[in-house]
Amino acid sequence: MPADPAKRIAELIALIERYSQEYYEHDAPSISDAEYDQLFRELQTLEVQNPQYARRDSPTQRVGGKPVEGFAPVMHVIPMLSLDNAFSNDELLDFDRRARERLGLLETATIDYVCEPKLDGIAVAIRYERGMLVQAATRGDGQTGEDITHNVKTVKNIPLQLHGAESIDALEVRGEIFMPKRGFTRLNQRAEAQGEKTFANPRNAAAGSLRQLDPAITAKRPLAFYCYGVGVTQGVDIPDSQYGLLRWYESLGLPVNDEVQAVSGIQACIDYYEQLSRRRSGLDYDIDGIVYKVNSLAEQADLGFVSRAPRWAIARKFPAEEALTHLLDVEFQV
Ligand code: NAD
Repeated sequence: MPADPAKRIAELIALIERYSQEYYEHDAPSISDAEYDQLFRELQTLEVQNPQYARRDSPTQRVGGKPVEGFAPVMHVIPMLSLDNAFSNDELLDFDRRARERLGLLETATIDYVCEPKLDGIAVAIRYERGMLVQAATRGDGQTGEDITHNVKTVKNIPLQLHGAESIDALEVRGEIFMPKRGFTRLNQRAEAQGEKTFANPRNAAAGSLRQLDPAITAKRPLAFYCYGVGVTQGVDIPDSQYGLLRWYESLGLPVNDEVQAVSGIQACIDYYEQLSRRRSGLDYDIDGIVYKVNSLAEQADLGFVSRAPRWAIARKFPAEEALTHLLDVEFQV
């Protein structure tokens, strides 16, 4: 514990606010995600240990950054939250234990989960009315996002019209827009050849491409979408599980990541993590972890959420790339 926790908390808040602004508002981070996660974790720990210094406006209580000016604001009737992180199997086991306790399950009972790759892109909410795409917004600060409808309409695998959804008054589909690795490499090669600025990584390229004021530029960017959640619905009964929701989305013509798996119990989640980490570099998109979600929507509702994240989901982050490369080097040397 630092000698003066109040001072360290203030320092951490100032640092995290600066890095968040660079990342969310300018799409130009100056530190790695792992370094950011470390500062964030340090702040969370100090706030728990020193609740008298915890501030209500701390970044640990908020989602994302301020919506960028130049785009019309879109209010999220159901807030778009962030996710809590787990950096080890022990933290994952703790998450599962807390969820079972909250649900009043027996010690021996297991929870059914859905395992989903954590895509490193931009969260969006896409609203369909009577099957037609009418609005798309970024997450923004979770309450208010930016209207990026014209840009989202240029993403090739996002349907402008859903199959057989004419009777659905409203369906807000949530998911991630990302830039596949191959497209990112080509985009940067082209930029370099033309003496233009290159993007630091596919996530920044996706964010920058979606925040274009001219949709013709976005249309030229190799973006793709996978859906993974739901917001407001009107005039439709949705399936009662996360896995059911994703299968239903597919039947409507929406793209769902085929790596998604339904499993029973937390050990199967750990096995999925190990299996996908081995194949991670072969995937054509960047992922920074695995998201585990309680499958039953009724159980999700029972678990609820805290200020910035649901209690029914957790992101198990991969170790930082540098650490991973180092580990692999060591493995090859022995
Ligand atoms: P997050 O990335 O930790 O988790 C929430 C987000 O995960 C969602 O909003 C969604 O966009 C995404 N996601 C991807 N796949 C998903 C799926 N299958 N289901 C649900 N959500 C899915 O959230 P955050 O609050 O946006 O960002 C925090 C993270 O961003 C940090 O942990 C850090 O890695 C990075 N960050 C880095 C810097 C920096 O300076 N390098 C600054 C700020 C944030």
